[in-house]
Amino acid sequence: MRGAFKIGKIAGIEIGVHYSWIFAFILFAWIFASGTFPAVIKNQTQTVYWICGIIMALGIFISVLLHELCHSLVAIRKGMKVSSIVFFIFGGVSNIESEPKTAGVEFLMAGAGPLSSFVLAAIFLGLASLFASPDNIVTPVFAVLSYLSYTNLLLGIFNIVPGFPLDGGRVLRSIIWGATKNLRTATLVAGNIGRIFGWALILFGISQIFNIQLFGITPNILNGVWSILIGWFLSSAADSSMREQSLQEHIAGVKVKDVMDKSPQCISPAASIESVVNESFMRQGLKALPVCNETGLLGIVTIADVKKVPQEEWDNTTVQAVMTRIPLDSVSEEDDLSAALKIMGEKGLNQIPVMSQGKMIGLLSRADIIRYLQTQQQLGIKNKPKPNTDISGRPV
Ligand SMILES: [Zn+2]
Repeated sequence: MRGAFKIGKIAGIEIGVHYSWIFAFILFAWIFASGTFPAVIKNQTQTVYWICGIIMALGIFISVLLHELCHSLVAIRKGMKVSSIVFFIFGGVSNIESEPKTAGVEFLMAGAGPLSSFVLAAIFLGLASLFASPDNIVTPVFAVLSYLSYTNLLLGIFNIVPGFPLDGGRVLRSIIWGATKNLRTATLVAGNIGRIFGWALILFGISQIFNIQLFGITPNILNGVWSILIGWFLSSAADSSMREQSLQEHIAGVKVKDVMDKSPQCISPAASIESVVNESFMRQGLKALPVCNETGLLGIVTIADVKKVPQEEWDNTTVQAVMTRIPLDSVSEEDDLSAALKIMGEKGLNQIPVMSQGKMIGLLSRADIIRYLQTQQQLGIKNKPKPNTDISGRPV
């Protein structure tokens, strides 16, 4: 995720934090320190409320981390690679480098998260009961442990809602996928439920803002705004997962070599930025150009690289000074186009070199892929899924 920084590594998985998560952390600490705890813990100082609020925010962070680790560890056990877990404003996300190959794996992987939240809720409840005072006075330790139990319970319940991309939606998808052997139908059903749930959250949020009491919940503007944001995030994630499913169908069985530019232009490292901009970017509409000399590929120069240098200096700055140097992310010509697209999406790349035995043999760009899909549509060509694979190109 762009805008994220690393904070550590657990079991080979990088743990990252997106700047938006810091906002959520402060918000949680503030809500607990200024609202919840002063209401339930009597006669304490502001400092105590704030310490409890910060411990609460940290506890939520650790709970979400454990939830995501459970997804990731199941994925690793099932032979998938997990590159990172990143925290952002709405929680954590595990970046797993491939989709589950079978319905059974998806079921286990998705189910592990909510299960861990329910187990954590039980553990915190047990710990809280150890600190319960006989005369029913709520101590800070008891309050923090109880709310951590409650938060994990809510996290578990929220995640078992059967709408994709929530864990419950993935579990539902895996069940339909297993029963029908059709990932497309499964994604459509789970995705549409996810979309409806997202919209329901948005409507609930609006009712909260307009002070309408629903389900016995006292209206609260902050809850309203939060529900609208999460609802919007979920419905757009459901939309994009369904769009991705349809894209996967169009490129099922297509290899990188079918789409790549087989003889991409190369520019010398000594060329000036001015010449690249004028000749390649402006005249030919290219967005990136490999940089090579007689020994082979040295790097790649993109519009973003060029923009780092003030325009007045383009004439006397060489490509070598601004290019992104090797080693670059690359794919091989026999890779599936869907795998290449996934790498490009995750790393935010518009193009990726195609390498064979250490040599660049082509360049794959988003523009090439769009052109391929448009031509495919104009000609009315339908991809025949490979035998023994379902519609998305995954082994059944
Ligand atoms: Zn989860």
